[in-house]
Amino acid sequence: MSYLKKIEYKIMPRKSFRVIRNCSGCGKKTHFINTERFRVNANGNKIDVWLIYQCENCKHTCNLTVYERQKPSSIPKEEYQAFLRNDEEMAAAYGMNMQFFKKNKAEVDAAEAEYDFIRLSECEDGNNENSDRILVQIHNPYNLKLRPERQIAEVLGISGSRVKKFMEQEQIEIESACAEMISAFVNKCIFGS
Ligand SMILES: [Zn+2]
Repeated sequence: MSYLKKIEYKIMPRKSFRVIRNCSGCGKKTHFINTERFRVNANGNKIDVWLIYQCENCKHTCNLTVYERQKPSSIPKEEYQAFLRNDEEMAAAYGMNMQFFKKNKAEVDAAEAEYDFIRLSECEDGNNENSDRILVQIHNPYNLKLRPERQIAEVLGISGSRVKKFMEQEQIEIESACAEMISAFVNKCIFGS
């Protein structure tokens, strides 16, 4: 399909999610926060890595698995060093990654999710300068649960219902949508209107 130009975005959470789980110290469901500390256990030729979470009320901790019984050779050296020095950026990256929570069967407080849409790049030379469509690609590296229509509405700065209407009129067309990225064609008149 031809388009005038391509514009890419990335959805970026602002902070780590809090985990909701039963705290044995409090005897009820509480919020656990990302301590930004890793625990590394090297046992023979197997390595375990956890990210430590802590109950907000009583300081009880729980570990979420980052790596389980991995061969040392399968963990990139730089990443391993980052675990050992409790790298904040690395801890935050895990703390914002829905895939990580899913793997740990950890429930997060999604209601408090804050995120930004960051404009990455604009590629002027689309494949057809006569086209009136702009290809919008939105990357979702942290797998946030946001419907494609919602994402497009945020990028365009319009309401979800207007996006729906434009989709009915084929002014907006979702080309593909998966957890990591959506692609949509948007009429250039809508863009920046
Ligand atoms: Zn507690």
